Amino acid sequence: MDILSLISQAERDCQRVFSALEATEILNTRRVLSAFQAEDVATRHFSPSTGYGYDDIGRDTLERVFARLFGAEAAIVRPSVACGTAALSLCLFGLLRPGDHLLSATGTPYDTMETVIGLSGNAPGSLKEMNVSYSQAEMAEEQTKIDVKSVLEKIQPNTRVILIQRSRGYAWRSSLRPEEMKALIDAVHAVRPDIFIMVDNCYGEFITDQEPTHFGADVCVGSLIKNPGGGLAPTGAYLVGTKRAIELIEARLTAPGLGREVGSYAASYQPFYQGLFMAPHTVTQALKTAILAARVFELLGMKTTPAFDAPRADIIQAIEMGEPEKLIAFVQGIQAASPIDGSAVPEPWDMPGYTDQVIMAAGTFVSGASIELSADAPMRAPFTVYLQGGLTYAHGKIALMTALEKMKL
Ligand SMILES: *Cc1c(COP(=O)(O)O)cnc(C)c1O
Repeated sequence: MDILSLISQAERDCQRVFSALEATEILNTRRVLSAFQAEDVATRHFSPSTGYGYDDIGRDTLERVFARLFGAEAAIVRPSVACGTAALSLCLFGLLRPGDHLLSATGTPYDTMETVIGLSGNAPGSLKEMNVSYSQAEMAEEQTKIDVKSVLEKIQPNTRVILIQRSRGYAWRSSLRPEEMKALIDAVHAVRPDIFIMVDNCYGEFITDQEPTHFGADVCVGSLIKNPGGGLAPTGAYLVGTKRAIELIEARLTAPGLGREVGSYAASYQPFYQGLFMAPHTVTQALKTAILAARVFELLGMKTTPAFDAPRADIIQAIEMGEPEKLIAFVQGIQAASPIDGSAVPEPWDMPGYTDQVIMAAGTFVSGASIELSADAPMRAPFTVYLQGGLTYAHGKIALMTALEKMKL
């Protein structure tokens, strides 16, 4: 089949799935709009601040909008929190004390979190160095569900935080929809209301019309250069949750006693507001791109997860390329179709912190933003590529065609 007919066939197959996404986009856009209006967002909130940033209404209002949107009591939304890992680390160091125990409910966490916890490498300042112990419960039913019983059994008297990772990250497991976390959240809170349930929500925002905090999670953390930044936020991360959790975390954000009262931003918060407004749409574009890619490669007989019509809880699409040549050609095709650095040719390289060589395509406006179309893969069998993002579906579709040409299928 030639590329155009393959894409058209795949697109026809996806129509029903696309319609369902557009219904969620409407619900989420309505939610964002209501939060903006309830907080009376106005032009004055776009004024920059300097120095201590006392009474920065742009910052404070943005935090209230996030809290409202996530059904949470309070929020930290800051350009000064460098990335998702920094926000997750901030959260853990805010909530945990020496002698406490951290329990992961979703198996081995995201790569960078292993270093924060002290599971791999020996970077100074890890939780381990602070005498915080760690254990994990594996997911059940072929990595598709949280094993509530196992998590409950692994709770210790000094367990203070239970971590749920929503996205598959770069593992061949299922991502979790917020409603799938409820059983665990309720079971833990019934026996141990003092335990904080923390969700790594990276890549999950706006996929469904509710977030983990709506189902009782104590705190939910994510990056602003992924979903909730809508492709416009230039940097930063957010944390939303209960007053009790956010108070502990904000003491680490700046200083005990200062918390969220300080922190200026000499640029404007305008792109953060506009990005949040765009986010339900941008996430839908990224999802449509992922679904089209899944269908195209399914038609070519390749293995994908999730399948094009399976329920989704994050924007990541995994595709098994089977052969290193195909994988490299695919990634190079995605890069070649990028608006930025389109002439760069990605090659596998020894990235610090990874055991296998890694190849990545990222031709993005915001450096490293994975809500923009990007692809990455470790160079190991079965040569699975992880594709995510896409600011517009049109671009996603064009990039797929370029990648297929490079693959000479
Ligand atoms: C992106 C991501 C993070 C944080 O990564 P950063 O690159 O530091 O923003 C953490 N967990 C998951 C599941 C992620 O997808």
